[in-house]
Amino acid sequence: MLSFDKFHDECGVVAIYAHPEAEKLAYLSLHALQHRGQESAGMVTSNGMCLQSHRAMGLVADIFTEEVLVRLHGNLAIGHTRYSTAGDSALLNAQPIMVQSNKGMMALAHNGNLVNAQEIRSRLEGQGSIFQTNSDTEVIVHLIALSKEQTLPEAIADALRRVEGAFSLVMISPDRVFAARDPRGFRPLAMGRIPRQEGEKQDTIVFASETCAFDLIGATYEREVKPGELVVLGPEGITSRFYGAAAPQSSCIFEHVYFSRPDSTVFGRPVQVSRENLGRQLANEAPAEADIVVPVPDSGVTAAMGYAAESGLPFRFGLIRNHYVGRTFIEPRQNVRDFGVRLKLNPVRSLLEGKRVVLIDDSIVRGTTSRKIVRMIRAAGAKEVHMRISCPPTISPCFYGVDTPSKKELIAANKSVEEIREYIGADSLAYLSLEGLRKACGDGEKTNYCTACYTGKYPTNWVDVEEIQPAAVVKR
Ligand code: SF4
Repeated sequence: MLSFDKFHDECGVVAIYAHPEAEKLAYLSLHALQHRGQESAGMVTSNGMCLQSHRAMGLVADIFTEEVLVRLHGNLAIGHTRYSTAGDSALLNAQPIMVQSNKGMMALAHNGNLVNAQEIRSRLEGQGSIFQTNSDTEVIVHLIALSKEQTLPEAIADALRRVEGAFSLVMISPDRVFAARDPRGFRPLAMGRIPRQEGEKQDTIVFASETCAFDLIGATYEREVKPGELVVLGPEGITSRFYGAAAPQSSCIFEHVYFSRPDSTVFGRPVQVSRENLGRQLANEAPAEADIVVPVPDSGVTAAMGYAAESGLPFRFGLIRNHYVGRTFIEPRQNVRDFGVRLKLNPVRSLLEGKRVVLIDDSIVRGTTSRKIVRMIRAAGAKEVHMRISCPPTISPCFYGVDTPSKKELIAANKSVEEIREYIGADSLAYLSLEGLRKACGDGEKTNYCTACYTGKYPTNWVDVEEIQPAAVVKR
């Protein structure tokens, strides 16, 4: 799936507690999470006395120059890389959000989407609160500042009880780091450890949206922050509490289908295992009379490996992706067919010519890109194109931190599988079943998943979502 016809990644968060170069570890961790958001990034660090912040639009490697990291030097840090799911993409909404309140200085970074943010914001504005951003995250900051609880950990717990929806949060004060997940555990948040070096008093504790961030900084994965858990690291050591009533777990299954990197462990399960299982399951459910299996890079690669292994068909990189496509490009005056897709993908004629191709991708969103890819493969000489999708048809938008098009734009919400096949021009089309998806991702084993974008059945009660944009959804 290409960036112009896809679900957008959400955000990535990291936190580092007790390391002499916390800013460098946070920077490297953010770099490993760049795939989760490329619009802006930010970091807040503490030297034990006060907080320093830096936020900017762009990519992690460009934002955190050596001079910036020197200024951010500290032993505690939190960081955020952002794709906007609520609020527009201006620097104003970049995170972490830092505030001075009656509980001292603090900063917060959020992955997810609060479904009652608008409601809380209107109420607080009515009581005189002044908001600096239009991001949903700022309501948490206001709730913490306004809480009647006396200590910061208690005020955070109080605020988290009042918000609804998806949130994996990391927070920092001059002497503490906090990590929390919403009670349904929609978005991931893992905890890791770097053993103390000689002369250091304690181990470094780290948090990240995905464990691929741990590998780069030499941290060992320890466990997930549990749904509904608030972990506090401070001078008193590590403490943990469940801040509110328990709710049935609804972790986002799309993290395993697409968002997370295959080298990550997410919700306590290796993504690679799930993604290869998806392909194997798909081969069993929807075999094809074909000569080769070709992934749409990069999204279909691991599932295609599973499909090839299970079906016995050879796996071939029949499409090559150009990783260096910038945001703007100049199109020649003479029209090149499917120019936008061709910029990113090019077929390998010598592999495709005369072949019956099974083409694997992880989803069809609007169908426009799949249609162009199928056409390109045929133009490169393929005899037949059998499209296979490693998840069920996406029929409903997400309200839990994933940027999905409205129901009107989701092709599977408006067309049958046969109509989609006809639209994309494939010889056959099949999706993985919902049961197949659940089985491949180990639903009910260690994790219970949200599958609402495939079923339209949300883990929370909603008013009719047909025409309502995610930010405007009101809880019933
Ligand atoms: Fe994930 Fe879909 Fe649920 Fe959103 S609706 S949390 S994308 S499974």
